[in-house]
Amino acid sequence: MSYVIPPAPIPTVPVAGSTETFPVRRIYCVGRNYAAHAREMGSDPDREPPFFFCKPADAVVPVAPGVTVDVAYPPQTANYHHEVELVVAIGKRGRNISREAAGDHVWGYAVGFDMTRRDLQFALRDKGRPWELGKAFDQSAPIAPIVPVSRCGHPGAGRVWLTVNGKTKQEGDLADLIWSVPETIAHLSQYFELCPGDLIFTGTPEGVGPVVKGDLVAGGVAGIGELSIRIA
Ligand code: MN
Repeated sequence: MSYVIPPAPIPTVPVAGSTETFPVRRIYCVGRNYAAHAREMGSDPDREPPFFFCKPADAVVPVAPGVTVDVAYPPQTANYHHEVELVVAIGKRGRNISREAAGDHVWGYAVGFDMTRRDLQFALRDKGRPWELGKAFDQSAPIAPIVPVSRCGHPGAGRVWLTVNGKTKQEGDLADLIWSVPETIAHLSQYFELCPGDLIFTGTPEGVGPVVKGDLVAGGVAGIGELSIRIA
């Protein structure tokens, strides 16, 4: 078989402490998964079922430890926001996965940024339109290396933080997720067959806000990793 055009490269994320990489198949994201962030987005943080949106796999921007990677300020926005999140890397296929079995499907964890064109997201949301223009653009998913579960276990708590130019903007704890990782996997796998290579961005704590060209954005999840990008 031959291709009529060169096939796109497989997007990958490095594995922490290894020369191996994790090939990305799909990126799922959870919306409003911390109560205080749901409130700042103007919604009721009562425990409604989680909702999901997607980014393309090639939106990932791998960011090695100790390195600051340039990420371009995206077009068509005047309100480009940071969101720091725990990311789950799926290693085992499954549908209708139970909460109890969810951990078996996780290959590892990372920290990533769900970068957002907030003005477009809100305009689309308010018209009942899809969110892709606000969420699924190029370079919208910077991510640190993935830590295998064999090294980090399944974190149920841990500080989630983000700074802009050294000032703390977001601070939360994994313990405050409205929907835990096992619950998120259980819900999502009712709608999609989860497959090895899928990433799940689990939602961001409060304190999201705008960044501009030149800003240094750093973030992390305790015990999982850190990353740093410069808005170029
Ligand atoms: Mn998010």
